[in-house]
Amino acid sequence: MSLSNKSIRNALEMKDENIIFTEDSKFMLVNGIKSLVYFAMLTKQIDRCLNCGLAGHLVKNGFNKNMIVAPSLSLRPTYISLKRQKYKCKSCNSIFVAKTSYVWEYCQIAQPVRQMILSETAFNTSLKDIGRRFNVSDKTVQRIIDEEATRRTSYQISKYFSRFPLKVRRQVKTISLDLNAGYINLVPKLFPKAKVVVDRFHIVQMMNRSLNSTRIQVMKRMPKRSKEYLFMKRDWKKFLESFDSIEKINPKYQYSVGYYETDLNLITKCLDLDEGFAKSYEVYQDILKAIRTGDTDTMNQILLNYHPLNTAMDQTMTSLRKYRKQVLNALKLKYSNGFLEGIIGRIKKIKSSAYGYRSWNNFTERINIQMFWLRASSSAK
Ligand SMILES: [Zn+2]
Repeated sequence: MSLSNKSIRNALEMKDENIIFTEDSKFMLVNGIKSLVYFAMLTKQIDRCLNCGLAGHLVKNGFNKNMIVAPSLSLRPTYISLKRQKYKCKSCNSIFVAKTSYVWEYCQIAQPVRQMILSETAFNTSLKDIGRRFNVSDKTVQRIIDEEATRRTSYQISKYFSRFPLKVRRQVKTISLDLNAGYINLVPKLFPKAKVVVDRFHIVQMMNRSLNSTRIQVMKRMPKRSKEYLFMKRDWKKFLESFDSIEKINPKYQYSVGYYETDLNLITKCLDLDEGFAKSYEVYQDILKAIRTGDTDTMNQILLNYHPLNTAMDQTMTSLRKYRKQVLNALKLKYSNGFLEGIIGRIKKIKSSAYGYRSWNNFTERINIQMFWLRASSSAK
């Protein structure tokens, strides 16, 4: 290794020697800003397929090229144009890229930069300022914080449940959690026999959110005095209601538009404004019905046959599809976190209306009054 090579490595905080520099660094425009770019390649001798584990079936299969955000000595944006060796397994046809601890797979920020960003967030600095300093967006900074938080939660959860002997953990039959939970992947390790159930309550919540955000997009394009806008604004909940329960035949006075009309007609009018909105509504209703009737076959078909609509629904459907098995479990098994989530929601409301409690006792008393005492007396009537 030449002397300069070592200096570059130190400057870039790079320890992995499988990354080699292929040409001199250059100043060039990246996203319109003059930046310092290093050129490097990651090659690593891999003998076994990471998917099927067979040896001797791997062939080199081109490169994956990415711009990696790298540590910067000056304030000049610095990147590594990194080529990563791709491999293909002739036995199982899977393709994968060489891995390095310097930058995680699917990530375009070097590990040392991530670490520096995280340590910066310990101080009272805005996301924007941190982002500017490390040449990433404020959203990226937030994402790095979120990822770290998830990793820590996962660690805490593992640590907590590992205290119970495996024999006990093997007796757990089902676990209900939501898809946002980063720890869904921990379940097989901690509870080898447990079936994972994606919470039904949470599936509906995700769908609600997607449909709402699409509705808002449509509203933004409409004149504020139009009937459709007024209806979507005042009666937004109508779109979330089950199709079976909305009024289809008897017109009633609609306060939003000021005349007699059925819910169905007004909803249809709004859906006609945008194809993506209409199709999102359709999927939403189909899934709602499948969940309500516990129809796993239909649910499976909806998930498999979904085509992207270019609306917020796409993201939700992608996650539901990714965990299809666990989503279908939700329809088969009647476990749900709905009750628990309800309690959490109520407690959050208590906290926000009281601007926090200094005394833990006062706080729990208040929760008890709202949740249980009043409940008991009203059900006793
Ligand atoms: Zn293979």
